[in-house]
Amino acid sequence: MSDADDTVADAGFDDWLDAAEDGAAYYLECPEDHTSLPPRRVCPDCGSTDLEELALPDTGEVRTFTVTHVPTPAFEEDAPYATAVVDFGPVSLTGQVVGIDVGDVETGLTVELEISVSETTGERVIGLRPA
Ligand SMILES: [Zn+2]
Repeated sequence: MSDADDTVADAGFDDWLDAAEDGAAYYLECPEDHTSLPPRRVCPDCGSTDLEELALPDTGEVRTFTVTHVPTPAFEEDAPYATAVVDFGPVSLTGQVVGIDVGDVETGLTVELEISVSETTGERVIGLRPA
């Protein structure tokens, strides 16, 4: 992952974080029922630009996770922490598990989205809190 990739990924994502903070997280679905997450203007599967915003389910289920004990400097103050891939209905989100000991994180855990702020960088990140 390069710095350039980070910049592109962040562009337009703030709007989604704003919505998520207001409890209005959403995902995108095209007429072919492909699903994706913002920021997108084109369906990544079929190229359709007719994307509908649908409400993200309130809770998701941890599909897989990794625990980081020795983080990169950018997340130094947050370690140790668990990063999980969580299935919210048809879409999956990757975020940092919060509000639980990293040793208690497990596959299948039910979590809800909670936008949190990195203790190190002060930037908003996707948090996942046990529901
Ligand atoms: Zn599509």
